Amino acid sequence: MADFSRFFPALLALLLALLIPGARANAQLWPMATITCEDWRLFRDVDFLRHQATLDSLNPCISYEPFVAGGIEWRLTRLQQGPLIPREAPLVVVLHDDENAALTGALGLLALRDVQVVMLDAEESRLWGGVDPNRMFVDIGAVVASCPHPLNLDHRFAAAILRDWTCTVPILSLHSNAPGFQGDGEGGRGSISMLAAKPHQQAFPAAPDLRNPRLSDPDNLIYMAGPTPLPGPLQSALLEPLRQTGLNVLYSQINPMKQDCSLSDYLTLRGQSDLYFNIEVEAGDTAAALTMIRKLMRVLDQYHEPQQTRP
Ligand SMILES: [Zn+2]
Repeated sequence: MADFSRFFPALLALLLALLIPGARANAQLWPMATITCEDWRLFRDVDFLRHQATLDSLNPCISYEPFVAGGIEWRLTRLQQGPLIPREAPLVVVLHDDENAALTGALGLLALRDVQVVMLDAEESRLWGGVDPNRMFVDIGAVVASCPHPLNLDHRFAAAILRDWTCTVPILSLHSNAPGFQGDGEGGRGSISMLAAKPHQQAFPAAPDLRNPRLSDPDNLIYMAGPTPLPGPLQSALLEPLRQTGLNVLYSQINPMKQDCSLSDYLTLRGQSDLYFNIEVEAGDTAAALTMIRKLMRVLDQYHEPQQTRP
């Protein structure tokens, strides 16, 4: 069994080799993701004022696309480096408007590479219209007994957020969480921590990174999800590179009967959890958010690159 783990990278490469050429062919057939650029200076969102210097230097293409789902008008904004991005660009999602470190991390990645950032404006709150946007993802046939807003569930929500995602490239969801965890004896308030893995979760702590000691903080972690008690083959192959680069990983098994209509649960039920990565940082830890998303993408690129290289 110990030896078998050596073959996971090869298995991953094989699976991606099967997957990626198809994605490439599709990417060539499909048009590039296109948005209509608007002047961000005209937007009301205070996040744009907070990040004015960043946006001035980035000069991103920003598109305001409000939509109605579940009886609520959601304020959705897409950001790209320009009006066109290749279909194979990762999708970066910031669902909670009060989690400023998450948005900072997303903008940091946008400065580095082609991605589409999707963010929701909820006037700096977690909820909008009394509803948590990360409990709005629903598919036909899903059991929604554990979803807190059953009356608002509407498939148009996921359709709008994921409109330009090709289902073949990584989707990165960024969040921040309160420090510690309830019951840690230090007044912790958070609900997600490497030190508080629930029975359906497995914690894989990072190797220490002396240059980035904050990365191994138990509140900073890459959250993965899936249908099985342990990470699947593709996720398992990424575990060791992620840990070696200094990132904590927390894996969660999703029970279809208790799923909560979050993005992680929705993608797991659709069989797409291999492409889902949730970056959780302690509230306010913008440095960790920026470093973690960069390191995560570097690891993911290593596995995608062999299929992209020259003839
Ligand atoms: Zn969040």
